[in-house]
Amino acid sequence: MRHWFVRMTLMEDCAKRVPKIVSAAAINEGVPPDRLARQIAAGRAVLPFNPVHSPEPRAIGEGLRVKVNVNIGTSNDHADLKEELQKAKVAIKFGADAIMDLSTGGDLDSIRRRIIKEVRLPIGTVPIYQAGMETARRSAVVDMTEDDLFGAIEKHARDGVDFMTVHCGVTKESVELLSRSKRITDVVSRGGSFLTAWILHHGEENPLYSNYDYLLEMAREHEFALSLGDGLRPGCLADATDAPQLRELMTLGECVERARAAGVQAMVEGPGHVPMHQIAANVAIEKSICKGAPFYVLGPLVTDIAPGYDHITGAIGGAIAAMAGADFLCYVTPAEHLSLPTVEDVKVGTIASVIAAHAADVTRGIGFERDLAMAKARKALDWEGQFACSLDPENARAVRARRRPAEDEVCSMCGDLCAIKMVRDELKAKRGNAKRPGEKRGKANR
Ligand code: SF4
Repeated sequence: MRHWFVRMTLMEDCAKRVPKIVSAAAINEGVPPDRLARQIAAGRAVLPFNPVHSPEPRAIGEGLRVKVNVNIGTSNDHADLKEELQKAKVAIKFGADAIMDLSTGGDLDSIRRRIIKEVRLPIGTVPIYQAGMETARRSAVVDMTEDDLFGAIEKHARDGVDFMTVHCGVTKESVELLSRSKRITDVVSRGGSFLTAWILHHGEENPLYSNYDYLLEMAREHEFALSLGDGLRPGCLADATDAPQLRELMTLGECVERARAAGVQAMVEGPGHVPMHQIAANVAIEKSICKGAPFYVLGPLVTDIAPGYDHITGAIGGAIAAMAGADFLCYVTPAEHLSLPTVEDVKVGTIASVIAAHAADVTRGIGFERDLAMAKARKALDWEGQFACSLDPENARAVRARRRPAEDEVCSMCGDLCAIKMVRDELKAKRGNAKRPGEKRGKANR
């Protein structure tokens, strides 16, 4: 039984009142604060907020603006903290709502602490990476102990991590199902592969599942949100929506309910690689099994044949998923499946996901004013107005400047055949506000 002096979690607090941080997030979103507090209390929205970090509030969930996460982080082959901080800066500039540090190379503690210090957005991590990597430096990933795993989680929590991916649904049962399945790509999640290998090697239950109550206690104590990882997500279209994926999702649904009962915020991670016609069903299944928990999708990538362009395959899938009700998009860069991304890859990947999120927002009646302002600026041939409405004004300005039109008012695409100008001038003439413009223009407009 809980004692009266145990601190209330943000989720529990929301059931009683509107905490300041929730109110600030609601004002940012343009939604009523009491409604957002009710959604958080019910687990239909999350607000990752570790008081040690105290990030800018970003609420994720039903009826809210679709959020975008950007992964950064070192690898064993390339560990340059300055470059990772530069990636975070670029991601924030282009509209990221959260940053995940997925570092696996270099001094992981100091990299994470520096990122938490420098980044004011919610920070997520996958602590099993650190537990696995540090064990691998001594022996092999499968020698990782429960203490290694929970020790990493506690360290991240104490450092101020706001949300953590925990692959609680990779269980003996789902791994057994996987071993009997006809999957092509087996396991493509790094954390999922650590746990699958661990379960196969030891024949024991995933410690994140068998000690889930302990994990919830830690999340309560340090106020971090759980991002229930999909360690068995499909890694190709042919594996999408198969039995291991759905078995894992059922376990995650159970984990969501237990988290809610413990006053711990939880969201659910989703696939992966999914053909377009299965995406809406995947979202509906998650929302049903996980009782409306926020859905955090990793892409999904809608085709497997575009390495080098997976920011596009991911953005197509993200837009469809968000339109169907997904709440949080994990960006994908052009380097996906190929290498650790560069700063430029992060920029391009962030913009692709932000476009997907915004396109879905418009279908929810959110953010349309900006599209309307752009349309009006286009009609007025107001180039400064168009740049001001752009997601990337510098790029828009540079693209216009590289092929200047002969006539400054239009652009070099149609030049003196500018459709907007021609019809505008003719309409003006018809309304008697101007001389017939055709009289003083060349043949082209006749
Ligand atoms: S010249 Fe063509 S592309 Fe350019 S603003 Fe006019 S109508 Fe649009």
